[in-house]
Amino acid sequence: MKSKGLLYKGKAKSVYTTDVKGKLIVEFRDDITAFDGGKKDVLENKGNYNAGVSAFFFKFLEKNGIKTHFFSMLDPQHMVVRELEMIPLEVIVRNVAAGSLVRNYPFSEGTPLDPPLIVIDYKDDSRHDPMLNDDIIVALKLLNPTELKKVKKVALEINRLLSGLLAAQGITLVDFKIEFGRQGKKIYLGDEISMDSMRLWDKKTGESLDKDVYRFEKGDVMAIYNKVAQRITTPAKKR
Ligand code: C5P
Repeated sequence: MKSKGLLYKGKAKSVYTTDVKGKLIVEFRDDITAFDGGKKDVLENKGNYNAGVSAFFFKFLEKNGIKTHFFSMLDPQHMVVRELEMIPLEVIVRNVAAGSLVRNYPFSEGTPLDPPLIVIDYKDDSRHDPMLNDDIIVALKLLNPTELKKVKKVALEINRLLSGLLAAQGITLVDFKIEFGRQGKKIYLGDEISMDSMRLWDKKTGESLDKDVYRFEKGDVMAIYNKVAQRITTPAKKR
């Protein structure tokens, strides 16, 4: 498969068309950003860690009945995916209160959320990704009511699967963000699931193992990404 033109360049990933119909190549770059792009850096190998963890999660989710855009890895930084028309929504599932939930609402950080909360934001940096509600999502024709119900159900199932997988590695899945896209009438999980899009806390020490290390300068980001990527992708019994 050959990469053709650049289709889209995001803050940390680039998407290329290919010579194969319906397939795209996603490049996980070494760029890292936070605060709507207000903080930016290039960190060597970051792309590889996030691509590896994303591929691992996509394969695991596919095995467990979730439809994702993942086909294969071309090399450690390039993923072959199904071409989707992305829906500009950030679907966030929260198991523990942290981040913007604590900043914007009277939750104390670390409070368990049972059942988990789903928060859906409109993906638009210029508007600072405002939170939507079901009526706005339907009125904007981003999803119809049946699709919205399905997306929430799939998001909760992904949460159940990933929480279990990570718990076995001694990691709490605090929250994560996923994005969906359409091919015809079908909706697939797209984008990535990586240390950039999840909040992960070590169960024993409470240490952050995700992009919060970069956001709030809590330590050596790449040392932590390297360690957590290995921890996630190594079967629990072999550790
Ligand atoms: O900042 P906030 O608490 O709303 O983030 C919730 C989760 O969604 C975090 O895991 C964060 O990394 C992820 N997120 C993301 N991309 C965004 C906003 C949030 O991956 N644009």
